[in-house]
Parts: sequence; C-alpha cells; structure tokens
Amino acid sequence: MSIRNTPDDIAELDRRFVFHPFTALGDHERAGPAFVITHAQGSRLTDTAGREYIDIMGGLWCVNIGYGRTEIARAMADQSEKLSYCHAFSSMASDTPALLSQRLIALAPPAWGGQMSKVFYGNSGSDANDTQVKLAWYYHHAMGRTGRRKIIARQRGYHGVTVMTASMTGLPGLHAGFPLPLDMVRHTTAPRRIWEGHGLSEAQFAARLIDDLEQLITAEGPDTIAAMILEPVMGAGGVHAPPAGYYEGVQALLRRHDILLIADEVICGFGRLGQMFGCSVFGIQPDMITVAKGLTSAYFPLSACIVSQRVWDGLVAGSDQLGAFGHGYTYSSHPVGAAAALANLDILEGEGLVARAATMGEHLQARLRSAFTGHSLVGDVRGQALIGAVEFVDRIDAAGPVAFDPALKVAPRIVKAALRRGVIGRALATSDAIAFSPPFVVTEAEIDIAVNAFRDAADEVAAELGR
Ligand SMILES: *Cc1c(COP(=O)(O)O)cnc(C)c1O
Repeated sequence: MSIRNTPDDIAELDRRFVFHPFTALGDHERAGPAFVITHAQGSRLTDTAGREYIDIMGGLWCVNIGYGRTEIARAMADQSEKLSYCHAFSSMASDTPALLSQRLIALAPPAWGGQMSKVFYGNSGSDANDTQVKLAWYYHHAMGRTGRRKIIARQRGYHGVTVMTASMTGLPGLHAGFPLPLDMVRHTTAPRRIWEGHGLSEAQFAARLIDDLEQLITAEGPDTIAAMILEPVMGAGGVHAPPAGYYEGVQALLRRHDILLIADEVICGFGRLGQMFGCSVFGIQPDMITVAKGLTSAYFPLSACIVSQRVWDGLVAGSDQLGAFGHGYTYSSHPVGAAAALANLDILEGEGLVARAATMGEHLQARLRSAFTGHSLVGDVRGQALIGAVEFVDRIDAAGPVAFDPALKVAPRIVKAALRRGVIGRALATSDAIAFSPPFVVTEAEIDIAVNAFRDAADEVAAELGR
C-alpha cells in the first residue's frame, strides 16, 4: 500500500513497523492499534479522529503533574539550546544536575542511621534499580563482605525489565521465555491481603510475612545476601499496601543481618501516596531510594538512585581501593532531563499537588469502594491516596479466593469496555485487576466519569458472563 500519512495510515505504519513493549505481538501485527494518540492536556488524551479519553492511569503511573505543561516544554527547550548534553564521567559537571541533586537530597526522607547523601542518574526505573544492585555489591565488597551477592525481592513486586531487574520482579509473565530469574535472586511472600493474608488478622498477616522473610534469610545465610528491594506500595503487581507493623519487622531483620534496604519509589515517589515519598508514609528508613516516573512526570526519561551517607562512605572506600567507580551511562546526569525535573518539581511544589493527590485520593478511594464493593465480579477494592485497584475473582470460599479462568480475560475485557466509554485504564499482568493512577491534577468530575465508565464496563462483562 502507499502511505500518505493520513490518520489511518499512521495506524497502518504502526502495525507494520513498530515493535510494541508488553503487547501480544501477533495480535498487534494482525489488528494494529485501536487508535493513535496525537495530543494531551491535563488528564485527557486526544486521538487522530479527535476523540477524547480520560487517562485514569496517568500514562503508566507516571504523568503526575498532568499532560501539556508548557513550563516544562520551555525549560527543556531552553536547556537544549543552552547546553544540549554534558557527560558526567571523570568529574565533568554541569549546572542543572547539581541543582536537582541538592533539591532531591533536601526532599528525601531520612536514611537508616543518617541522611541521604548523593544522587546518581540514569534513564529509566529499570536501569536505576540495576544500578542499585551494583551499588549494593560494591558497598559490601568494599566492606570485605564479598560473599554477599543475593538480592531478596518479593513475589508480585515490579522492579523493571533488565536482566537483573526482571529477575527481581516477582511476576511470572516477565520470566516466561527467558532464562530468568537469575539464580542470585530470591523472592519472599507477597503482601496480598486477599490471597496470602486470607483468614488472618492484619497483625497475624504481618507476623506471617515477617516470619517468611526471616526463614528465607536464615535458609540462605545472611552473609550471602546483599540487599532487599521493595516498593512501599506495590504497583504493577496489583496495588498492595502491606499490613501495619510489616515494615518495622522487615527493617529490624535487615538491620540485624547487615542487609541493605532499597526502596523502589518509582511509583510512590513525588506524591502519589499523599506525601512526597512512600517511605515517609510507612516510616521506612532505607539505605537507597530509586526514583523515576514522577521525577519528571515522564516529560523526559530520567531516573535516580539516592544513596545514604553510610552507603556513600562505603562506595568512597571502595573507589579509594579500586580506582574510578566502574559504572555509569552516557546519559547519566543529562542536563535536559535535570531541567525537566526541576521544572516538574517547581509545579509540584508551587501548586501544592502533593496535597491535591491526598484530597483527590480520598475521593478516588471512596468512589471505587462505593462503585465496586459487593459487585458480582469483584473480590477486592483497595488502594491508598491516588493509587487504587479493583480485583476480580470468581468467588471467595472459606479456603480463600478462587480466580476466574484466565481464558475469560475478565480484567482485559473490562478495560476494553471502558475504552469504548472514553476511559483509558490498565489491566494488570498476571492479576485479574484494573489499576487507577491518575494525574494529580485530575478533577473530581473526571474521577466520577472514569469510575462510572468502569462500573458500567464491569456490568457489561458480568452480563456476558451470565452473573
Ligand atoms: C515502572 C517501574 C519500574 C521500571 O521503570 P522503567 O522506567 O519502566 O524501566 C521500576 N520499579 C517500579 C516500582 C515501577 O513501577
């Protein structure tokens, strides 16, 4: 066919030439995209046909300040004209990464045994978590603990897709077809209240999770373990906040055994839970923090590893022994990314958007609960502030929940039915759930439209299933 670059042809170009991530490849090559987005503003996307959609996922949990902010576009354009690139190897320095680092250290929650000290930049949450593992290894090596190689992560946790971070990710769909997870990664029990916590009180569930972690550490041998990584609230694994008392127990264990704690704040960081960091919400004092998504609200691919003074001192000792620290990306400390992050933080702080995430979050949680609790397809409605999920189960027996046959594709069908109603949501991989993670600038009216669309979509699918 001849390509004329009309809207229909863009869909055809995409079908023929674009290799989409996390997509059923054959389906896409046969059918092409359902629509092609051309622009966005606030919480709304517009496609080539001029149709508008509410993006109740904020992209992929990342467009925190909303789409279309010209201040950020301007900051990036100005920075590109002034200094389009400056590497950071061998002490090369430019102004915006220095200004951003000072600001991130001032915002960061306290670390264990002191404060956060330094910021290392990458380009994605995946590469930043990959870096964190290397930092943990390097730190222990410098301390003479060369046997500490293993990393503990959690079942259902999501930490990215590089070879190491896909291994830490506890979702089977990210391992299938690859020789993963790497055997230096161990997964401990997921903090899923309706599944692993079924029939337990909150305190019993916390005790069970902490006990499972302790048994894992004992079985592996503490002196083989470098670090544990966790998301304050699990995102892609189903939106799970752990039971009260969990983090106190986890942190006590890790400290007793000299295991570093990496807080993966890629979703929680910069306000989604109604405070600047998830660590503050739960009283977590980590050794290292990973941020990405909300750092620039996805206006530029930028991530960061924030490390504590204690870890930094170890890294310096290692570099004094070994020479120049042997890790870094061409685009580490990218001046345009740092300019985007600074402008993003100006908007976040200047417009009080973290407080807004808290108040809009209350509205979202109330609306999700009133729309879905007791629905014939729904097993659980959960979330905190501006992140939520609805999970679909066939039924909940005395022994625990019974999942729908995956072939029924309940959550994906509901997402498709909501899309026909003008709302873009997301079915979560390997849990029959839909997630909500709107921009902080979302309005109550937009939340209502989105929740109603999903409720109608769930009713439609329930009728198809004869429930
Ligand atoms: C998205 C995500 C990542 C990976 O970030 P990418 O930028 O997609 O590489 C890591 N951790 C968490 C918690 C995430 O949500």
